[in-house]
Amino acid sequence: MQRKEIAVIGAGVFGAWTAWLLARAGAKVTLVDAWGPSNSRSSSGDESRIIRGAYGPKGHYVRMTDRSFGLWEELEAAASLRLIRRIGALWLFGDDDAFVRDSLGFLRQWNFPLARLTPAEAAARFPQVNWQGVRTVYLEERAGWLLARRAVQEVVARFTAAGGELRIARVEARRGAGGRLDELRLSDGSSLRADRYVFACGPWLGAVLPDWIGPWMRPTRQEVFYFGPPPGEPAYTDTALPAWLDNADGSWYGIPGNEHRGFKISCNDLGEVIDPTKVDRAPDPGRLARARDRLAYRFPGMAGAPLLESRTCQYENTPDRDLIIDRHPDDERVLAVGGGSGHGFKLAPAVGELAAALALDRATPDPLFQVSRFR
Ligand SMILES: Cc1cc2nc3c(=O)[nH]c(=O)nc-3n(C[C@H](O)[C@H](O)[C@H](O)COP(=O)(O)OP(=O)(O)OC[C@H]3O[C@@H](n4cnc5c(N)ncnc54)[C@H](O)[C@@H]3O)c2cc1C
Repeated sequence: MQRKEIAVIGAGVFGAWTAWLLARAGAKVTLVDAWGPSNSRSSSGDESRIIRGAYGPKGHYVRMTDRSFGLWEELEAAASLRLIRRIGALWLFGDDDAFVRDSLGFLRQWNFPLARLTPAEAAARFPQVNWQGVRTVYLEERAGWLLARRAVQEVVARFTAAGGELRIARVEARRGAGGRLDELRLSDGSSLRADRYVFACGPWLGAVLPDWIGPWMRPTRQEVFYFGPPPGEPAYTDTALPAWLDNADGSWYGIPGNEHRGFKISCNDLGEVIDPTKVDRAPDPGRLARARDRLAYRFPGMAGAPLLESRTCQYENTPDRDLIIDRHPDDERVLAVGGGSGHGFKLAPAVGELAAALALDRATPDPLFQVSRFR
């Protein structure tokens, strides 16, 4: 049988895993990215991303997280690198803890142990947290964080070692008569033709495929801050504190430690819609002030801590904040993968498997991730 030629556009976490799994399956794969794997504009370009199992009533994501864990661990072993920091995740809720409760059956089914702590138990175990306003606490043990940027680069290194080609160029999808894709035009003046085209362009997906994805992709500004803990103080590192998701009032999350880059904190509320190519990524003073206040409130020992680093990133939101993994209805050679919507990183290995199966014509699109659900 002839080897299938596949172009994957976008070397963020979704494109990287898709390309690698396709190359492993024997396809001839070209991976093209405008600025390189996990570049500073991409949604995968930050240092760290939380991996956890609870997903409200959406059991398929718990299953995909379990599957992804397995593949992340395989990568870790192959690379002899610690890419997953298994520090657990603390869930903080006020009166409404439905998000975790709705997941309990799925968490049991997919082997994500969960301990419910009383606020008093939580306070005894984690005295560095101010537990005001918190009524329910869960500790998800099989959770932690991934070295995000580093992991993507490792996947791409595996991909090229497996014979895949990485090219740095901006891609434009040229369409011929009848609206079908004709070829990819690259910014170096060359063109690329393949049997299948997998567009994994993250927040750019709507701009690259405007007719199909355009109306359903909203990249929103999100800011992440890394604050410096006191010297020699382990309480705010990942040796003493899990990743945390604070839904007691508002929606904040963070990761302690981060390879000594500081204590990470971010607000989950959606910011304004941005152009990920042109947006200036200097931190917004108002958001920074809110993050400082929140940090001082929930972690009083961090009050007044200096800002060490910040990242301005974007979520690639679909209307329901669920993924897109789909084949174009009128052009079976064109696939779209994206819509991580602020939670997709951990799922990338499982997403890559689904996308690779579609590209190899070994599966049909799952209705859960089809674009037609938005119409
Ligand atoms: C602040 C923040 C916190 C998050 N926290 C978490 C978390 O804790 N846990 C979690 O699981 N997920 C989290 N996410 C979500 C996750 O990071 C994203 O969903 C995921 O990284 C998206 O990956 P992607 O491959 O779709 O997109 P990207 O990483 O953006 O990759 C797309 C790539 O396509 C390239 N590209 C685009 N257009 C073109 C073109 N025309 N030609 C060539 N190349 C092109 C870009 O250069 C880019 O490299 C978070 C996201 C953000 C922003």
